[in-house]
Amino acid sequence: MPTIDSALTDVVAKVEAGERLGAEDGLRLYRSRDIFTIGRLANHVREHLHGRVAFYNINRHIPYTNICVLRCRFCSFYRPAPAKGAAPPAGAYALRVEDMVARAAEAYACGATEVHIVGGLHPTLPFEYYIDLCRGIREACPRMHIKAFTAIEIIHFTRISRPRRSIAEMLEALREAGLGSLPGGGAEIFDDRVHDEAFRNKVGEQGWFDVHRVAHEMGLFTNATMLYGHVEGPEERITHLLKLRAHQDVSLRERRAHFNCVVPLSFIPDGSALAHMPGPTGLDDLKTLAIVRLMFDNVPHVKAFWVMHSPKLAQVSLNWGVDDLDGTVVHYDITKREGGGTTHQELTVERLKRMILEAGCVPVERDTLYRRIVRDGDDWAVAAENERRNRE
Ligand code: SF4
Repeated sequence: MPTIDSALTDVVAKVEAGERLGAEDGLRLYRSRDIFTIGRLANHVREHLHGRVAFYNINRHIPYTNICVLRCRFCSFYRPAPAKGAAPPAGAYALRVEDMVARAAEAYACGATEVHIVGGLHPTLPFEYYIDLCRGIREACPRMHIKAFTAIEIIHFTRISRPRRSIAEMLEALREAGLGSLPGGGAEIFDDRVHDEAFRNKVGEQGWFDVHRVAHEMGLFTNATMLYGHVEGPEERITHLLKLRAHQDVSLRERRAHFNCVVPLSFIPDGSALAHMPGPTGLDDLKTLAIVRLMFDNVPHVKAFWVMHSPKLAQVSLNWGVDDLDGTVVHYDITKREGGGTTHQELTVERLKRMILEAGCVPVERDTLYRRIVRDGDDWAVAAENERRNRE
């Protein structure tokens, strides 16, 4: 019989009774070495919500630029903005709208349901670029969901638009052009010390929550992230999660949309100003994914983003609280763990399904809003809409 870490006895009782965990519970989970009890508890919650279903989607990540006016210390993606008249630094790029649209259209033709777009804070791209980008993809790929822009990008757009727009005006303009939801990146860790040490010039928690509050008020769904494994500790992680949970409580009660998914992002030090740090271990990754599942009684999905966790650990995590593996991705430029350092980072549908089946789960293709997809080759429909059409 397995023995349970006695420090977790109360936590086990709370989880089995369906009670909400507090900060001290979260810290005890982090301090415990009893990874099997933590996994069993997280799996208990996951199965209560989703049974043995594990979700994936067919998507394409397309960053529009890696040129950024900021220099977050954890970031290995950005290239510094060149001085006026100077040549861009090696490896810097900014894609034209037509090239972005062509890449999205290529994915759409292959059956992708979602395009995921984020980028650096480019010093000279005008506000109209982002509107044209959404509108161009919407016209070329009418049914493709555009999940785009972190909170810091939205705030950047409000600053560069003329006349200056509020967050609500900016989100409305982007939605009118085709934006479907926000991916939720850029939250990092909500803590002043961590902010000052790792991403000083980036908008802090107030700005991030402002964007997500307004999005939820307008009926735009978003996700919530946590970048962990750099200069923060377990206390700051738990505080971060509790702030997200409190926001979700209000969104569920008072707003028209909410977080669909929490995405813990495992820090990859290589190439960043924090390259001397070791980054999270596999056990830290697994424990964090499970603890996130246990702390959120009000967010339906927990995602293991396989690009950052590795496909192998993401697969294991399906029995440690995770119910979603994200998608086929194809190209990813923000971090490079898989793919031998290139931006080509792809899992085929066959491989995603095999990973899920081997974990003892049932693969279900979803769209961005977690509606089930029925698929015939590259053709697809949202299951509920398909059923309605069949009835009519
Ligand atoms: S994390 Fe984002 S805002 Fe910060 S330097 Fe990288 S691209 Fe720029």
